[in-house]
Amino acid sequence: MVNQELMTTMADKHESESPTLLEWAEVEKYIKRAKDAFEPYRQSSVQQRIGFLRQIAHEISAIRTDLIETSHGETHLPEGRLSGEIDRTINQIHLFAGVLEEGSWVNAIIDTADPQRAPVPKPDIRQMQRPLGPVCVYGASNFPFAFSVAGGDTISALSAGCPVLYKVHEGHPQTSLLVGGCIERAARQTGMPDGVFASLMVARDVGVQVVTHPSVTAVAFTGSFLGGKALYDAAAKRPVPIPVYAEMGSINPVFLLPDRLKLHAEATAAALVASNTLGAGQFCTNPGLMVLLQSPDTEHFLSMYGKQLAEQTCHAMLTPGIHRAYSAGVERLKSMVELSTLGEGKKMESANAAVPVAFRVSGSDFLGNSALQEEYFGPASIHVVAEDRAQLLEIAEALDGQLTCGVWCTDTDIDSFGPLFQRLEQKAGRLIINGAPTGVEVCHAMVHGGPFPATTDTRSTSVGTQAIYRFTRPVSYQNYPDRLLPAELRNGNEAGIWRKVDGELTRKSR
Ligand code: NAP
Repeated sequence: MVNQELMTTMADKHESESPTLLEWAEVEKYIKRAKDAFEPYRQSSVQQRIGFLRQIAHEISAIRTDLIETSHGETHLPEGRLSGEIDRTINQIHLFAGVLEEGSWVNAIIDTADPQRAPVPKPDIRQMQRPLGPVCVYGASNFPFAFSVAGGDTISALSAGCPVLYKVHEGHPQTSLLVGGCIERAARQTGMPDGVFASLMVARDVGVQVVTHPSVTAVAFTGSFLGGKALYDAAAKRPVPIPVYAEMGSINPVFLLPDRLKLHAEATAAALVASNTLGAGQFCTNPGLMVLLQSPDTEHFLSMYGKQLAEQTCHAMLTPGIHRAYSAGVERLKSMVELSTLGEGKKMESANAAVPVAFRVSGSDFLGNSALQEEYFGPASIHVVAEDRAQLLEIAEALDGQLTCGVWCTDTDIDSFGPLFQRLEQKAGRLIINGAPTGVEVCHAMVHGGPFPATTDTRSTSVGTQAIYRFTRPVSYQNYPDRLLPAELRNGNEAGIWRKVDGELTRKSR
């Protein structure tokens, strides 16, 4: 759902000194450089690309102290959190370098020829993933490192063999320039083609022009529904369509089942309050909606949640605009007669500090008001009390697409709520049992994505190594002589990667 209050302007976002913005004529030069860099970059050896990635990680590590200081000043995020995010960013880069090193990610498939086949001979056909071309990446406000300049989008695109044009987020321009410098230095030191990466500090309309430029072949975005959908719509009007991978809003519903609440109400409340208020609630995986079944144990849980929330404070939000949007959203919720306030945290003295708040609503009122599915980016949550199981399932059915859905339950609950799990599988990219949705593991199996409106492409993930496939396309080579094939498809299989040869996975040469 669209939360109109989230329409933040650039001026809203960073009320301190504005950086110099690039004009379109200059941006066009960067796009041309990225286009020219594509051919030499995609032809670079795997070892060269691994060296480039690892050097980026090294450069970031080398200026860690400056990065923490600068980003803390720009985002107000605690230094410990920023330090952890730098570690995560560095680990993420090494993870992708490892994927290239191992090599099987290219999904090499070989169907050998059968000249004797009747009625027609079978040709030799070999397939693998190849890079798309220059990718435009829009970084996020809430992760100045892991979802920004050298974050998962940029690194997965570079790993795939695509040059990157990075649109700097206004919330942390100086941090972005520092990290951009790390990538540029790494590119020079490892002999990457000029134009393989560029940071673009541009106004909104120029950003849209980049997305619609003929040389751009894909877009990755993390931010609001309105921003992501605007870029998706702009790209849809191009004469030549391209994929837009926008990761947008999510309220990450959490179902709290009766046996779990009977046994662990207090611990469950503590875990969810901590998750909801972490980082002033500014996570796309923030648990913003809890669904419970009417009972005395639910009342006990709700009273625990309210009490524990009342003890919480949150630091300043990322930008004044995000704080204004959050505060206005909370006021709107407070004005809705069907909602009652379950608990409210303490207000810190610092400017733009978020105040955590939780609301309660009945299952039927929730089902009658689609505005209650909007994202309130910050430490707010709505607790929906269903009158019976049928209504709880109806609520699950009515949910919009989400990044995550969680269930807190015992084995007894699992046995008696089977249909709930079936329904939730249709709703989210990541399904969680007895765990907070915040804290997205960067690994091979992660899906950070989900059905619209959580993202514009439900088939993809923006976290984890599978994110690389957003920037590749499969190519088949029919009857190609060995010497014309990419190394991964040649008979010798010199790198010893896993390939599917005539339907069987093998690392053998053929
Ligand atoms: P945002 O307003 O969507 O901005 C993200 C990027 O998109 C910025 O570079 C922004 O550029 C650009 N943009 C925004 N609207 C645009 C439009 N209509 N046309 C073209 N470009 C546009 O997101 P944000 O600043 O990160 O935070 C605002 C809201 O986003 C939050 O309140 C929250 O709801 C959501 N959010 C979601 C996630 C997530 O992971 N899903 C993460 C962070 C924030 P300019 O503004 O500079 O033009």
